Amino acid sequence: MQHCNSVFQAQDIWFLSDSDEFLKRKLYIASCPICQKEIALYSYCSADMKNYYEKYYYSGGARKIKERFKKDVVSTMLGFKNRYKAPSGFKYGKNIEVKRKGKIIAIKQYACDFSGNKILVKTIKNND
Ligand SMILES: [Zn+2]
Repeated sequence: MQHCNSVFQAQDIWFLSDSDEFLKRKLYIASCPICQKEIALYSYCSADMKNYYEKYYYSGGARKIKERFKKDVVSTMLGFKNRYKAPSGFKYGKNIEVKRKGKIIAIKQYACDFSGNKILVKTIKNND
């Protein structure tokens, strides 16, 4: 996958069920290591296998396409397919308050993905 002039691996691949028009449908999912943007790459073949298509989606578009396709997931590279049935398994941002003596001293912002992975994006320190 590509963004910000860099090439990187998908963090997960969703293998999607065939539709009448398209076969070998896959959704590659990653976030850009440079700008942290959420990226989804949809690849598919025409039913006659003559044409291969690729389409990139970013940020909100990537979230939308994941939401749209999660019902079509047959399996995934990470193998968490059962999780997709529970909408509560979908999380995209999480703030965790770090408290000391009852006072919030920092907020940690995590990016959480569909497979339960959590990446610390940013720590905001509360200096009051
Ligand atoms: Zn980028």
